[in-house]
Amino acid sequence: MEFIEGLKGLTFQQKRILTEQAQDLVLWGGLRIEDLWPSDYNPANKVEATCIFNNVMQKIDAMRRSPADYSDSAFSSLQAPPSRRTVIEPDFKAPDTIMGRCPCPDESLFLRCCNLKTLDAVQQCAFACSYCSIKNFYSDTAIKVVSDLEGKLENLEVPEGVWHIGTGQSSDSLLLGNDYGTITALSRFAKKHPDIVVELKTKSSRTDWITPDIPANIVATWSLNAEPVVRNEEHFTAPLEARIKAASVCAGAGRAVGFHIHPMVRYKGWESGYRDLVRLLCDSIDPSSVIMVGIGTLTFTKSNLKALRSSGVHTKVTQMPLESIAGKYSYPFEMKKEMFGTLYSYFPQDWKDNVFFYLCMEDPALWEPCLGRSYASNAEFEADMKKHYLDKIRSLS
Ligand code: SF4
Repeated sequence: MEFIEGLKGLTFQQKRILTEQAQDLVLWGGLRIEDLWPSDYNPANKVEATCIFNNVMQKIDAMRRSPADYSDSAFSSLQAPPSRRTVIEPDFKAPDTIMGRCPCPDESLFLRCCNLKTLDAVQQCAFACSYCSIKNFYSDTAIKVVSDLEGKLENLEVPEGVWHIGTGQSSDSLLLGNDYGTITALSRFAKKHPDIVVELKTKSSRTDWITPDIPANIVATWSLNAEPVVRNEEHFTAPLEARIKAASVCAGAGRAVGFHIHPMVRYKGWESGYRDLVRLLCDSIDPSSVIMVGIGTLTFTKSNLKALRSSGVHTKVTQMPLESIAGKYSYPFEMKKEMFGTLYSYFPQDWKDNVFFYLCMEDPALWEPCLGRSYASNAEFEADMKKHYLDKIRSLS
């Protein structure tokens, strides 16, 4: 940036930090770092330059600490990203290994992890959630459907102890429904492994894949968010009400369903936004059909942030303190405690009694104050999750 390059008295490192801040300001609503800088800037020495730098950083930090405002007219007048023409590659020759694991660091002491395994049945997504890192994994925008998924799954050697596999880490699991036979192939796999739960995580409203022959251990879960977050950050996904309606159709067919309220965003009015979401959900779905509610928030790696900043997509998801925790950037502990605890408090008692709530990839110390329970280890968490999931699936079968 020419303006930053021309600033006298600052170090290379200070200019690098300012460049990142300037990129964020543009994303949040076309703000310019020049406007935070004194117009008569002419420091006599490095100490004076650093003092002015610190002052500008404090102003930006104050913006990060106040909730993002989606009603801000400068932001709402900005363009959403253009919709992508969906090119489908239906016969993608994937490498033999289509199984992986969730992005938690191995044996993390800092995060409570459920040890989810992943299956890359479809790669890349046509939705465009601003915070999503999946688009950065792939070099082009085509949606690739793994060829001969059925054969690959037939030959898959499932490691000892694996009981929970998700397909939502490489695409939206129901973006293509069963148009290319993905659900048929996964159903065959699930029938062969009745003690493995196959999770289809989605922000779509598709229900046309639901047929009576799909085994009960295939479980669809809907990713939900407060309506302003859906509207401003989850581009081209199904509206909130349509997602909940689809989940209710699925539950009505006698199937277990689940929900991820993730990533929670601390925007202006977040308390009422998430209270309305919980009310809509609880008015629409009976907790006896609900296997889980996973709760989490925005977490970025350095490379996610870099990609987001250079994408030019207008978003407020980086308008947050970006505290560094276990090599990732997120909200500070106390903010998370307030967000997760408040969200959980909105659920009625029959949901708390019947549904497995958990915090996804979060500090173990958040569990007790937010959910009123905790686990001593990841293994204990995983075992309890497994028991709840399988009990609920069997109770509905
Ligand atoms: S729906 Fe999921 S995979 Fe698709 S862009 Fe959004 S977060 Fe990424």
